[in-house]
Amino acid sequence: MKAAVLPGPGQPIETRDDVELAPPGPGEARVKVVASGVCHSDLSVQNGTIPLPTPIVLGHEGAGVVEEVGEGVSTVKPGDHVVLSFVPACGECFMCSKGQPYLCEKSAAQAAGGLLDGTTRLTSDGAPLHQMACLGTYGPYAIVPEISMVKIPDDVPLDVAALIGCGVLTGVGAALNTADISPGDSVAVIGCGGVGLNVIQGARIAGATTIIAVDRFDSKLEMAREFGATHTVKVEDGVDPVGATMAVNEGRGVDVAFEVIGLGPTIEQAINTARAGGQVVLVGVPRLDVMVNLNAAFTWLYLAKSIKGCWYGSSDVYSDVPKLLDLWKKGELKLEELISKEVTIDDVNQAFDDMQAGTVARSVIRHQH
Ligand SMILES: [Zn+2]
Ligand SMILES: [Zn+2]
Repeated sequence: MKAAVLPGPGQPIETRDDVELAPPGPGEARVKVVASGVCHSDLSVQNGTIPLPTPIVLGHEGAGVVEEVGEGVSTVKPGDHVVLSFVPACGECFMCSKGQPYLCEKSAAQAAGGLLDGTTRLTSDGAPLHQMACLGTYGPYAIVPEISMVKIPDDVPLDVAALIGCGVLTGVGAALNTADISPGDSVAVIGCGGVGLNVIQGARIAGATTIIAVDRFDSKLEMAREFGATHTVKVEDGVDPVGATMAVNEGRGVDVAFEVIGLGPTIEQAINTARAGGQVVLVGVPRLDVMVNLNAAFTWLYLAKSIKGCWYGSSDVYSDVPKLLDLWKKGELKLEELISKEVTIDDVNQAFDDMQAGTVARSVIRHQH
């Protein structure tokens, strides 16, 4: 089959047509990937922010149709439509039993760039080809673990469903699960890309009435308003983003500040933007060497701020995917509006450029089969 492959760190994505797929092993399934979002974390693998072995088929935000199941698979069958979860959740390990399936112990295997047993089901020119997040949705077919799939109704368009797999679960989950937002609250969202827009709509759904979008790009601030931002702060020379954000609430700061970029300075900004007694939710993916520099006495003691980590929107995919689809059906959650462009696997490098230029919420790959 033809798939988009990252040959090595820092290199452009190339389309290879010699990619072979092994049959699904026990506890695995072959999925025809119908659509895949192009997420910033894919770019983060290319630029080394997220270190993964290469060559690799990127893509961790997808949806498709189950075609074949391996031995012992009982929760899905051929023909089922599924959203792919970029964190497998077994439901049985210590973390899953603590109600934190986004930290499922089985997901640690992903760092090796294969499936749960550490090996990959893909080869190119006879050599192993890794799969991002036990998935690899930049290929038209993928062998994935049973515990990485969430069955959805057949009437949900699969390009819309694909986006739920990462950006929507992460962003909306950060607002609905990780943060504790009360009706009437004020929030700030620093970074308004695909995930940031979802934090904004999650905050709106949670009842926040002041939603301040902070970004460098006018194009993203405009999208932020469509998703529910009530105020915008454009970061540019001569603007102090913390002061400008705090000014919206008479200098007090916001009830909840979200950081959705992953840079040391913007993490510190988010912490400084939260009011005394407020919450800070860290959603952005930093490089592994990013450290933050905070005054311990003021941050935690005198100003009593809570800083919450957020991985995968603190989601339980098995209950949150149906919940998000419900919100979408009621018209409260925007999904179609997130798709700025439909592309093919030959366009991934352009989609990365568009993402960095801030001109798209999401590019979505429509696979040809
Ligand atoms: Zn993602
Ligand atoms: Zn688990």
